[in-house]
Amino acid sequence: MSVSRVYLDHNATTALRPEARAALTAAMDVVGNPSSIHHEGRRARAIIETAREQVAALVNAKPLEVVFTSGATEANAWVVGSGNWTTILSAGIEHDSVRGPVAHAGARHVKLPVSVGGIVDMEAIKAFAVQVSPNVGRTLVMLQLANNETGIIQPVAEVTERYRAHGLHVHTDAVQAPGRMPVDFASLGVASMSVSSHKLGGPSGVGALVIRDGARLPSFVIGGGQERRRRAGTENLIGIAGFGAAAEAVAVDSGAGQRLAALRDKLEAGIRQITPAAVFIATAAERLPNTTSVAVPSLTAELLVIKLDLAGIAVSSGAACSSGKVGASHALSAMGLAPEIATGAIRLSLGWNSSEADVATFLNVWGAVTRPHTIRAIA
Ligand code: PLP
Repeated sequence: MSVSRVYLDHNATTALRPEARAALTAAMDVVGNPSSIHHEGRRARAIIETAREQVAALVNAKPLEVVFTSGATEANAWVVGSGNWTTILSAGIEHDSVRGPVAHAGARHVKLPVSVGGIVDMEAIKAFAVQVSPNVGRTLVMLQLANNETGIIQPVAEVTERYRAHGLHVHTDAVQAPGRMPVDFASLGVASMSVSSHKLGGPSGVGALVIRDGARLPSFVIGGGQERRRRAGTENLIGIAGFGAAAEAVAVDSGAGQRLAALRDKLEAGIRQITPAAVFIATAAERLPNTTSVAVPSLTAELLVIKLDLAGIAVSSGAACSSGKVGASHALSAMGLAPEIATGAIRLSLGWNSSEADVATFLNVWGAVTRPHTIRAIA
């Protein structure tokens, strides 16, 4: 990427941290298979177990609760696909890696309503939990920790606290949270949680499913004894080494949340000043400090993303693009937002290496890009 570009799409993937680069480069020279009992194998095994401790420490889990996967998509698919659930509760704001498997799970799907503020309806969970309580262990609740488009944070701990006794398996997709807010697996009280390396400064293609010690969840990928027989396949040693190092770097960077919030506030204040008509999504909600979702009435997200890209700024839109047709963002639609907003919102997401200069450059460009004569309005 040219040095003059500004990257504001860290929720899609964030830059590799130097600590991760060093760890994965070093792991490239390790020849052993972690399952081999010789010296080389044990060396590889040690790298994996160190990374497991680093990831576990970041999210306050026990190392034995961390199972490495090919990413959060696999982790989410595992939970939905292997549990033999009779019923699954989830909302329309979930990531596609949840929505897809849920749609194909063959279980009864209870679609949870979401408020305009982006929060899942607790009463709907309650109504269901009371009715389902005899069916212990067969009901799954998929409830993301923070939304990838809006940054809105769900009351996951409140759900587990209230409904633990009903025997629901509560899974949280926590992909967007580490490095932006504290994540505490133990106090969230969930049975399982997915995390992804490339969202926190590690390489892509690696993640983890954190499974509470004692939670019942059959293996998904079978055919080998790796990961204590929970996930077969020779481990992605290099990726896991990078993931662990990135997790440790995140864990020691305690000021990240505040730093990101200060930059995000400047970004939003600048946009408000330049474009008073801009509509910000859910600024009153509890949300991640790095994410802004904003629409400019009468401008399409597609056009904004392209114009910004041509001007050197990378952002994204929540609008799904399939068969060449850009539709409304499923997450914003699930919140009941007007179609113009759901098709018009772009996402700006800051990351660990974002700077004041990035925000200043963005705001200069934003002024030029949103000036009426430079942009075509929705017909
Ligand atoms: N869940 C959320 C909320 C995400 O934002 C993403 C990635 O975009 C995923 C899951 C999938 O993660 P991975 O890329 O590790 O498969």
